[in-house]
Amino acid sequence: MTPAEILPGGLRAIDTMTAGMTKVTAGYLIQAPRPALVECGPALSIDNVITGLRELGMDPADLAYLVLSHIHLDHAGGAGDVAKAFPSATVVVSEVGARHLVEPERLNASSRRVYGDLMDSVYGDCTPIDAGRVRGVADGERLDLGGGRVLDLLYTPGHAKHHIAAYDADTGALFVGDSVGVKLPGMKTIRPATPPPDFDLVLAEQTLSRYRDLEPSVVYLAHYGAVEPPIEALQEASERLRVWSETAEAAYHEHDELDHVTETLARRFADEVVTDPADPEAEERVALLSGFASNAAGLLRYFKLRDEGRTAT
Ligand SMILES: [Zn+2]
Repeated sequence: MTPAEILPGGLRAIDTMTAGMTKVTAGYLIQAPRPALVECGPALSIDNVITGLRELGMDPADLAYLVLSHIHLDHAGGAGDVAKAFPSATVVVSEVGARHLVEPERLNASSRRVYGDLMDSVYGDCTPIDAGRVRGVADGERLDLGGGRVLDLLYTPGHAKHHIAAYDADTGALFVGDSVGVKLPGMKTIRPATPPPDFDLVLAEQTLSRYRDLEPSVVYLAHYGAVEPPIEALQEASERLRVWSETAEAAYHEHDELDHVTETLARRFADEVVTDPADPEAEERVALLSGFASNAAGLLRYFKLRDEGRTAT
């Protein structure tokens, strides 16, 4: 596996090697007196993360927090395994999603419906975590990392209704999970992440606007790494979200059919991924995490619910 990447401010990026590929999902370790890992990736690749933490000198008692941006299995699937390997760690997650980590049966079953065979080859089941070790948080809560350092937690719905971001005021680093989108190696621009079942366009836009007001010094995507410069990247994310949603909505008005919306998005945005002979996995990464069908399904579902007056906003 790849050694952890050294980032400014005592941060380290551990490549989870999701699906056996580099740079699919990052876990970020904040090295403070009470260290926090932000994201851990799926269960099936969790040994890479546990080994990565050990190589960084973390003994089982050392990890204080595992912060999960949300409970999709490409972010949180290995949380039960991390909790077991690091028995002092508190698992921090939105209060909206917390119960699914304590009793993950529904999360695993719904993920199996979405991921199909990839559940057995890439993701794996999330194992239950004792309720006493899961802290469901609301907007504005704060984690004490020791030595005066804190991690601020923001409720940032849109991509999912159980999404949070973490802001390290010491370094200005903002960990945004999937709420800004994805930018994998070979992608020319940020691509929105708009999956079903609870993508909400208005909430996603509000979340991006809130991030801009925060003026972070760096924005870390889970998939994958820093996007720079941060304010321009957040503006780009908003612009991409607008163009993708307008394209999907126009297609939806032509034919209210998933295949049509998927094909329309694919026609318009396929050239966003550069084929690089030096990186044969580029297309595979994008297909795994940022496929047109998933984005189309989330957008289409949102438009239908909105037109029925059933969205949150
Ligand atoms: Zn997600």
